[in-house]
Amino acid sequence: MNIKGLYRDELIKLITPVYRADQILQWVYEKQAESFDAMTNLPAPLRAKLAEEFALNALKEVKTRHATDTTEKFLFKLHDGSLIETVLIPATPGLTSTDDRQTVCVSTQAGCAFGCKFCASGLDGFKRNLSAAEIVDQVWQVQKLMKQKVNNIVVMGMGEPFANYENVLRALRILNAPWAFGIGARKMTVSTVGIVTGIRRLAEEPMQIRLAVSLHGATDEVRGKIMPINRKFPLKELMAACEYYAQVKGKMLTFEYILIENVNDMIEQAHKLAGMARRVHAKVNLIPYNPVEGLPWQRPDRDRCKVFQHVLRQAGISATLRIEKGTDIAAACGQLRLQHER
Ligand code: SF4
Repeated sequence: MNIKGLYRDELIKLITPVYRADQILQWVYEKQAESFDAMTNLPAPLRAKLAEEFALNALKEVKTRHATDTTEKFLFKLHDGSLIETVLIPATPGLTSTDDRQTVCVSTQAGCAFGCKFCASGLDGFKRNLSAAEIVDQVWQVQKLMKQKVNNIVVMGMGEPFANYENVLRALRILNAPWAFGIGARKMTVSTVGIVTGIRRLAEEPMQIRLAVSLHGATDEVRGKIMPINRKFPLKELMAACEYYAQVKGKMLTFEYILIENVNDMIEQAHKLAGMARRVHAKVNLIPYNPVEGLPWQRPDRDRCKVFQHVLRQAGISATLRIEKGTDIAAACGQLRLQHER
């Protein structure tokens, strides 16, 4: 049992009296202790019992890559040898915004079974779901390694969060809890490949988590070519679920759209995308493709990306064109892991 995967109520049932459980949580999340031995205000027999019955660290750092734009990418090893990636994306004053957001992008699965054609994460198939502790520990480790408070979470790393729904929500509740990280739910975004059942389920959650949907195609024909999930949940069903989410939550969702040259960057796709975004009051985040070794896709040139954005804006849609971050550190999802394994 890993401490970082437990709620406070669960720990209290295992460790009495209550103030001892709170001391442990303080050591774990506030002081970021790396071992039970370091928890010096606990009696020695309790520390020994904890070390025997609980695990404290779920990940081991294998590699850290720094990009010139200050993005940091981490490769972590899990206890079974699987590798996962986590990214720290600091807001860069003067480049994107002037705030001091420290965003961590977490993975939720080792590998991925969804096989989006442009993505490096799925290239070596799916290994397993991550536990809640393994998701929480990504944020914990980044905070410890970088000595910076994390205040924004995007669940956009390797894997599909709704295919590991229970563990992802447990992890987000722990990250949100005042006794752990205290990160506001509004500062958390879950990104899905388009699992309709997961979108409807998230709409029912009391937590005000933000939703991003990876669209990458505005017709079934284009989307179906690059995202196999579109066969199971075609755009009509996906849009109905997005509409439901927007109605229930009363808030804006985001469509992620990776621009790939001659695949989905045509002007008619931009017009169709504008219509879809208008229907569910979504904003659109355009991401020029990060080429992946071994895959044939290319990034459109900057002007073509801007024309695509212009069509959306002309239609009254809020559309941002992402300034690429981390291209020099293999920032495309799953790429660092793939390079390391091979
Ligand atoms: S884009 Fe996401 S869902 Fe698709 S293969 Fe990559 S990790 Fe999996």
